[in-house]
Amino acid sequence: MTAGEQARESELATALARLSERLAAACAAAGRRREDVELLPVTKYFPAGDTAALYRLGLRAFGESREPEASRKVAEFASHIDDPSVRWHMIGRLQRNKVRSVARWAHVVHSVDSLRLADALDSAAQADRSTPLEVFVQVSLDDDPARGGVAAAELSALAERVAAAEHLRLRGLMAIPPLEWEAERAFARLTQLQQQFVRHFPAATDLSAGMSGDLEQAVKYGSTCVRVGTALMGPRPLISQ
Ligand SMILES: *Cc1c(COP(=O)(O)O)cnc(C)c1O
Repeated sequence: MTAGEQARESELATALARLSERLAAACAAAGRRREDVELLPVTKYFPAGDTAALYRLGLRAFGESREPEASRKVAEFASHIDDPSVRWHMIGRLQRNKVRSVARWAHVVHSVDSLRLADALDSAAQADRSTPLEVFVQVSLDDDPARGGVAAAELSALAERVAAAEHLRLRGLMAIPPLEWEAERAFARLTQLQQQFVRHFPAATDLSAGMSGDLEQAVKYGSTCVRVGTALMGPRPLISQ
């Protein structure tokens, strides 16, 4: 390892220790068990070397949001670290023309928000995978399609489609708070939607919610997976690779 790589790894170790404490405190404050909330590090825009450093620090799942950056990074990571227990999550908006490549590397997709996307992922998973692709349906909290997410009124139909798809496995709901909303308001709305949702889909109890700025509120409202970028990796580089 170069001195630069060593310095970066110790920086990540410090940030991870701080973040782990923060998450443990959030769980304690919410009266929840730490093991019931997955910490998903979001490594988008950062090099594969950072992901390898996080692996050495004990992390085994990583969130990516863009193609072809993600495909390249997964391949580079795999050329150095051969560990089938590593799991990759696609958390960003997904275009249908990227579905084939995403189905090859992702174990979990958090951003399914249309019937057409669900159908395309099901076909891609059939063609390219031996195990079902795990899916969170992304729901819009303000019914504004700009930030992604299916409108609340169309959530059930979409989840039915995912649940019925042979090569997909419905895990639960994902949401991103609308920009101008308080986190509390957003996650309260999400919990309300989730309560109806799990009545129809009792096996799909996972909730992907919470990022660097609002993970405490997300944990308070029942998140089972927080997606954390900045608080672990530092500010994202302006120039993408
Ligand atoms: C980038 C990203 C995150 C991480 O955001 P931070 O605020 O940097 O923690 C979480 N979720 C999604 C969907 C993202 O695109």
